[in-house]
Amino acid sequence: MRHWPGARRDCVQCAAVHLHWAAQRKDVTDVARNLEIYDAIPESAVIIVAHPDDAEFGVAGTVARWARGGARVVYLLATDGDKGSEDPSIRSEELAALRRAEQQAACAILGVETVEFLHYADGYLEPSLALRRDMARMIRKHKPKVAICQDPTRFFHGRGYINHPDHRAAGEAALGAIFPAARDRLTFPELFAEGFEPHKVDEVFVGMAENDDVIIDISATFEAKIQALRAHKSQMGDWDPTEMVDKWARENAEGFDFSHGESFRYFKLGGD
Ligand SMILES: [Zn+2]
Repeated sequence: MRHWPGARRDCVQCAAVHLHWAAQRKDVTDVARNLEIYDAIPESAVIIVAHPDDAEFGVAGTVARWARGGARVVYLLATDGDKGSEDPSIRSEELAALRRAEQQAACAILGVETVEFLHYADGYLEPSLALRRDMARMIRKHKPKVAICQDPTRFFHGRGYINHPDHRAAGEAALGAIFPAARDRLTFPELFAEGFEPHKVDEVFVGMAENDDVIIDISATFEAKIQALRAHKSQMGDWDPTEMVDKWARENAEGFDFSHGESFRYFKLGGD
């Protein structure tokens, strides 16, 4: 039985860690990957995830790279991460406020301008029409050129990990919000009535994806990723994520002329 050293058992969000950790093990996922380097800096981006810290583990190096390059970046979180504690003295509302503050601190380190929370219940997320509509509203509000989301098709990784259902739900709702809900005027007409004009996202990056096909060089922003992860103090505890996250990023970059990378499944929906 494998144990992940340093894992806090009370942490729902740490599921993201298991996910990537399992995916990177050569004896579990021994599939040769053919990754294309993506080096453009988008004008604007939205990062859509289920929980506080999901984005930091998976895609924060890319976020920092884009933000430093001038991109306007918005985070959109479906939940506040309000269930992941075994402390009997802490109430769900207190935990939610703490997790939101930690996410804001992480985003400040990465250069993210805006953080939006949809306040759905942690652990109970479904790819509902309501969630799709609420994500579409935010996409129409912020009008990002590109979007990053989680992989809704990822149920398992080898023998070591079952993906958190919130991650799948957030990914499915996000993709449905990007296409077609944000784009089509007659879909969720209440959004248009509220003043949110349709918006078309040009590119989509699915993070920690089953079938990744692009890689982004995060060598220059890896330290920012680590600092952003450490901002999630209530989830990290005394554990230092550096060694493990460094290993993932180095393994991603194997065969390339840079040291650290994050990989994605990429879709080009429009634009130049
Ligand atoms: Zn999570």
